Amino acid sequence: MDKLARPALVAGADAHLIGGRLVSGGDMIDVVDPATGQVFALCPDASRADLEAAVVAARSAFPGWAAMGFERRRELIFAFADRIAAAADELAPLLTREHGKPLEQARMELAISGHHMKQLASLELPDEILRDDERGRVELRYHPLGVVGAIAPWNFPVALAMHKVAQALYTGNSLVLKPSPFTPLTTLAVGALAADLLPPGVLNVVAGGNDLGAWMTAHPDIDKISFTGSVATGKKVLASASATLKRVTLELGGNDATLVLDDADLDLAAAGIARSGFFNCGQICMAIKRVYVAESVHDALVEKLIAKVGALKVGPGTIPGMDMGPIQNRAQYGKVRAYLEDAIARPGAEVLTGGNIPDGEGYFIEPTIIAGLDDDVPLVCEEQFGPVLPVLAFASEDEAVARANHGRLGLGASVWSRDPRRAHEVAGRLMAGTVWINRHGLNESDVPFGGMKESGYGREHGVLGIRSYQELQVISRPAA
Ligand code: NAD
Repeated sequence: MDKLARPALVAGADAHLIGGRLVSGGDMIDVVDPATGQVFALCPDASRADLEAAVVAARSAFPGWAAMGFERRRELIFAFADRIAAAADELAPLLTREHGKPLEQARMELAISGHHMKQLASLELPDEILRDDERGRVELRYHPLGVVGAIAPWNFPVALAMHKVAQALYTGNSLVLKPSPFTPLTTLAVGALAADLLPPGVLNVVAGGNDLGAWMTAHPDIDKISFTGSVATGKKVLASASATLKRVTLELGGNDATLVLDDADLDLAAAGIARSGFFNCGQICMAIKRVYVAESVHDALVEKLIAKVGALKVGPGTIPGMDMGPIQNRAQYGKVRAYLEDAIARPGAEVLTGGNIPDGEGYFIEPTIIAGLDDDVPLVCEEQFGPVLPVLAFASEDEAVARANHGRLGLGASVWSRDPRRAHEVAGRLMAGTVWINRHGLNESDVPFGGMKESGYGREHGVLGIRSYQELQVISRPAA
């Protein structure tokens, strides 16, 4: 236990940040290394009293922080982002250990976190004059909401949490952040970097399980919940938050379709699909999860895809040169295995590359491409969130669009074509929050992001998204 409680962790990784102080002790959560399936660290599990202390601290820090103004808040968020970048080499091994992703990708996640924080805190968010004429002057003023509760998933634990931190704090709110119980450590360590930088209570980070998330969504003194995670949990969040009519933003799951038209640049498409479908072991909300390809170019695309995906190196993220680590946790590993085994057993299914599950304790699955499936197979019509990708042929564009739009999810989609007009026209018919043309998954914090249908509720990022961390007030008076 003593060895577990004090592994070679980074400062602050074993403590909540509450009211500017690092707080440890109490119940603990096991943190598992997915490359071995073994517990390698313990993390404090916040009690209701810990949450209460964090909300009280956030509430009392709010007025001063709100009054500070955008410019000063921007400076502090930039300084925080710089601290994360400076600590990246120290933090990356911890992120790899708890998440499984290759070390280089862990470093990249930390770098991107800082970059996105700066992008978000650079947005101009002025009050606006709606009209000033003979009918009078109408002004739109934007106020911070108060205390934001942010609930993060495990697939990009730091980046997705830091998006919320930057948006909430820049707009003048204070924050209580909860990382996923599967990947709490690096986020706690990142929170500790802000302990002597931000005014106490402005940023609070509390680790805990699903109960802690539920307490946050029901808490009467939290004004908004920003949630990223699964559709099923998102629905619970919305239901719970309705009791206090909290503002809610939900970034949920996706089952992104990509359409490869018959005039596509197939090298470009194969490279883009392999990158999007298998980066982070396929555990990306906006990963390509279904490939629809025109019959006439099906075989040529598949050949290129097999070459790309078959060459991916899979192993523990601590070994240099790996492209893919294990699935992040045992439950998700079980889910992806079940999708894979079910798909392979279907009549007509053809495993084009991969398909095996290596022996051993870690949660590894070979990067896999499967053809010959119907659209109603769970691997196709549900979110697999893993490195197993179905490829399906289509006869006409109309058919491809209809099949891509089928289902309750609508996060992202993409079209590959050499004809910009054709691609643009098809893109407009795809019911997804973002449609990329000749790429997939580009994530920029100055562009609004979110899902249609059950993939989300509201938007984050960009001026439009960050406004959801503000309350609109209209000030109206007669013409002078
Ligand atoms: P999850 O819904 O299981 O958990 C997400 C967070 O919610 C965790 O911190 C968890 O502890 C907390 N939680 C669980 N039950 C709760 C409850 N009843 N009330 C409040 N909080 C609760 O999701 P996950 O498995 O961690 O993440 C994977 C999912 O997230 C995938 O579906 C993926 O597509 C989605 N995702 C979406 C985006 C996006 O931007 N749209 C980004 C990343 C991941």
